Amino acid sequence: MKRKALIAGNWKMHMTVLEGCRLAAEIVASCKDYTDREVLLAPPCTIISEVSHILAGSKIILSSHNVCWEEKGAFTGEISPTMLQDAGASCAIVGHSERRQVFFESDEVINKRLKGALAFGLMGILCIGETLEEREAGNTQAVLERQVRKGLADVPASQMKQVVLAYEPVWAIGTGVTASKEQVQETHAALRQLISEIYEKDIAEGLRILYGGSVKATNVDELMSQQDIDGALVGGAALDSISFARIINFE
Ligand code: PEP
Repeated sequence: MKRKALIAGNWKMHMTVLEGCRLAAEIVASCKDYTDREVLLAPPCTIISEVSHILAGSKIILSSHNVCWEEKGAFTGEISPTMLQDAGASCAIVGHSERRQVFFESDEVINKRLKGALAFGLMGILCIGETLEEREAGNTQAVLERQVRKGLADVPASQMKQVVLAYEPVWAIGTGVTASKEQVQETHAALRQLISEIYEKDIAEGLRILYGGSVKATNVDELMSQQDIDGALVGGAALDSISFARIINFE
């Protein structure tokens, strides 16, 4: 099955309104009318609304970095799926390693966030990935399996079309160290096999699995040449329009 590629830019905690609108406009200008790939931008929530005006008329998908599972109420510091939709977003990233590590979000909380996003019709990008310690201890597969099983717990097959999986080894995020294309391909193939065991083969074949971890203009082509790498979640290089444009236009 040919899956549509997805190139996602995570702006993390960067960009004022002015800077974000300028960057978004530059990215819009460098996108072509693709049929084989989609582009997604995840600005900080303070500028989602302004960036949505810049993206209007383009096919670029707008995402948040996180989402609450409730629509409204006493959840200080949280943003609901409907608030995100109101601001112009149609996707939420959940389980990013910075949420897991710096803000101690558990698999259970991440699962609630994902289910909340899906229930309100958002697309959800579930991030998973092992730390260097876990890799060196030989626990990579076990950690990824736990994160997938717990992250997707009670997500019905009918909502799996809204889900994207992002494999981001923690040791490769923001470090300049990229996992090799062979390492990533092998891991993605194993993840797809796991998804076919949890759900069924068709769902696994249709699921997009992105790689994230120091993706750059110089390594995107070789990563994207692999059968089970369906796109990239890009941090640092997404903050520069020239680099990100090159990544979007991978060959
Ligand atoms: C990320 O933030 O998800 C990421 C992969 O960052 P970087 O590309 O900078 O490693």
